[in-house]
Amino acid sequence: MRRKLRLLSTLQKIDLDLDELYELRGDLPVRVEKLRAKVEMVRNSINEHEDFLKKGTADRARKEKESLALLERIEKLKDQQLQVRNNREYDALTSEIELAEKTIDEYEEEMEAFARQAEELRNELEGLDKELKELESDLEEQERQYKEVLESTADEEAELKHEREKIVKRLEASDIEAYERIRSAKGGKAVVEVRRESCSGCYNVVPPQRILEIKRDDRLFFCEHCGRILVSEDIAEDDSPVE
Ligand SMILES: [Zn+2]
Repeated sequence: MRRKLRLLSTLQKIDLDLDELYELRGDLPVRVEKLRAKVEMVRNSINEHEDFLKKGTADRARKEKESLALLERIEKLKDQQLQVRNNREYDALTSEIELAEKTIDEYEEEMEAFARQAEELRNELEGLDKELKELESDLEEQERQYKEVLESTADEEAELKHEREKIVKRLEASDIEAYERIRSAKGGKAVVEVRRESCSGCYNVVPPQRILEIKRDDRLFFCEHCGRILVSEDIAEDDSPVE
C-alpha cells in the first residue's frame, strides 16, 4: 500500500509540474488558433470579392463588345430600311432595330449597376487588405512567442510525460480513474498531505484518530470534506524513486 500511496503522490507532483508548464504557455495556443482562423476568413472574403469583380469585369467587357456589334447592326438595318419596297419588310426591320436598342439599354443599365457595386466592393477590399495585413503581423508575432515558449518547455514536458507514463503503468486503472476524477473536480489537486492536523487541500481539520491511521500508510483515505486523497507528510515528502 505504501507503494501505491507513493505512486499516487508522485503522479500528483508530476501533474502539478505539467500544469505549471502549461500555465506558462497560457492561452497562446488558443490565441494562435483563433488568429489563424480569422486570417483564413479574411483571405476567403478577399478572394470572393476579387472573384466577383473579375467575373463582373469580364461580363462588362462582353456586354460592351456586344453593344458595339448591335450598334453596327442597327446602322445596317437602318440602311436596309431605305431600300425596302413594302411596309411589311420595313416593319420587320423596325422591330429588329427596336429589339437591338432595347438590348443595348439593358446592357447599359446592367453595366452601370455593376460599376456602382464594383466601387463599393473595391472600398471593402481596401479595408479587408488592411485588416489582413494587421492580422498577419499579429499572427506572426504570436506564433513567434508560442514557438519560443514551446522550445523552452518541450524537453521538460517530454520528460515529465515519460515519467508520468511509467507511474500510470504501475497503478491500477481504478486508482487512476479515482485520481483523475478528483483532480478534474478539484482544480488539479487530487492527492494532498495532512499538514498541521489539517487537509492541505481544503484546510479542514482531520480527526486525530484518522491522522494516526493515515500515518500508517496502509490504506487509501479520502478527506471527508473535499474528497481528496489524503497522504502522510512522510509519503508526500519522500522524493526517492518509488520501488
Ligand atoms: Zn480536504
